[in-house]
Amino acid sequence: MQTTIHYQNTREFAQEMDRVDHLKSFRDRFHIPLTDAGKPSIYFCGNSLGLQPKNVRSHIEEELLAWEKLGVEGHFEGRYPWFKYHHFLKDATAQLVGAKPDEVVVMNGLTVNLHLMLTSFYRPTTKRRKIIIEADAFPSDKYAVDSHAQLHGFTPADAIVELTPRAGEHCLRTEDILETITEIGDELTLVMLGTVNYYTGQYFDLQAITKAAHEVGALAGYDCAHAVGNVVMELHDWEVDFAVWCSYKYLNSGPGGVSGVFVHEKHGNNPEIPRLAGWWGNDEATRFEMPRQFVPQQGAAGWQLSNAPVLPMAAHKASLEVFAEAGMKALRRKGDLLTGYLEFLLDDLNQQCEVPAFHVITPKSLKDRGCQLSILTQEKNGKAIFDYISKHGVVADWRNPNVIRVAPVPLYNTFEEVFDFARLLQEAIASRKG
Ligand SMILES: *Cc1c(COP(=O)(O)O)cnc(C)c1O
Repeated sequence: MQTTIHYQNTREFAQEMDRVDHLKSFRDRFHIPLTDAGKPSIYFCGNSLGLQPKNVRSHIEEELLAWEKLGVEGHFEGRYPWFKYHHFLKDATAQLVGAKPDEVVVMNGLTVNLHLMLTSFYRPTTKRRKIIIEADAFPSDKYAVDSHAQLHGFTPADAIVELTPRAGEHCLRTEDILETITEIGDELTLVMLGTVNYYTGQYFDLQAITKAAHEVGALAGYDCAHAVGNVVMELHDWEVDFAVWCSYKYLNSGPGGVSGVFVHEKHGNNPEIPRLAGWWGNDEATRFEMPRQFVPQQGAAGWQLSNAPVLPMAAHKASLEVFAEAGMKALRRKGDLLTGYLEFLLDDLNQQCEVPAFHVITPKSLKDRGCQLSILTQEKNGKAIFDYISKHGVVADWRNPNVIRVAPVPLYNTFEEVFDFARLLQEAIASRKG
C-alpha cells in the first residue's frame, strides 16, 4: 500500500515527523560516528555496516567475564552456557525472517553458509543442472554458484543463467523472472537470488518466484544480506527452501559478524539430505560422546560445523534484542516513510533543475524496496557530488560508474537527516554548476 502522506520540503516538516515518530527513542541506543568537526555524521550506510548498539559492549563483557571466571566450565555454566549459545538467538532470528525457531541457526560467515547450502541444495543431474541468478548479483554470490557448477563438472556458461533487466531498465520485472523460470523448465534445479538486490535496492517477489521454481521442479534459495532487518519476510509461509544472510548490515552486529541460515522444515527434518558435516551439527544429546557416526540435529542446526564463536554472537544477541523490541513491522512502517521522504525531496530537487540531475533506479513501489535508494547521477562526474556530500558529513556508498547508494534506516536515522542530506545534495549540484 502506498502511503498518502503529504510531504513538505521544509525543516519544520521534517522536525515534526521526528517529533511524532514512535521509534525515535531508538536512536539513543546507538553510537553515531562524529564528523571531523565533532558533529554527528549523517550515517546512511547501514546497508553496508550498521552502527553499534550501545548494549553490545555489556553483552560481550558478560561473556568475557564468564570466560574469566569459569574457564572451560562456561560451556555449561553461567547465564548463557556456550554449549547451546545459538539457542539464545533463534527466537528473535526466526521472528525477523518469518520462520519457525528450528528453521534458523546462526553460524559462520555468509559466503561460507552459502556454500554449505549450495552443497546440500545444488545437486544437479546432466539434464537438470541450471541455476538462475541476477546478472548484477553481489560478486561473492556469483563466485559461489560458479564454483559449485565447476565442482559438478559444468562450466558456468552452461550452468548459470543470469537475469538482466530489459534494455533501458535497471530493475528486473517479476514477469520476466517467472518467464525465464518456466522457459528453462526441467533443466532448472535452483533459483538463487539476492532478496533485496545490493545495487538497485529492488526487493524481489520471493513468494511468486519460489512458487514458479517449485512448479518446474526446482528449488528456491535466497541471499537475504540486504533484506534481513530491512524488509518483512515470511520465509516459512512462502515455502522458501533455504536462505542465508549476514548480521553486520541492517542487523548492526559488528564487522565480520556471524551469519544466519534458514532451512525450511521440509528439508531440515530430513537427515538424508547430503551435507558437509561437523561435530556441532550432531545431535546435542550425543555430541560430547563423540560418536563415530554423524547424526544430524533436526532443523537448520544440523548444518552447524564448529562450536559457536561466542563473542561475535554476543554482539549479535545484543542487536537482536533491540530489533525484538522495535518490531520489524513497525520498523518497516517508519522506513517506508523515511525513504519515501527522501524520494520526495529528490524529486523536488530534480524539478528545480533544468535537466534532471539524477535518476533513482530503485523501484518506486513500497512493496518492491526497503530502506535503500540507489541514485544514478546523470552528470559525467557524479563522483564529485559524492565527494562533496562526504566532505560535509554524509556517510554513503559510491558504486562505479555513477551510483550513490543511501539507506536511511528507521532504527537510528531521522527525517531531519534526510532533509539535511537533500540540502547538501542540492549544494553539491549547485557547486558543480557555479
Ligand atoms: C554483503 C554481502 C555479502 C558479503 O559476504 P561475506 O561472506 O559476509 O563477506 C555476500 N553477498 C551479498 C548479497 C551481500 O550483500
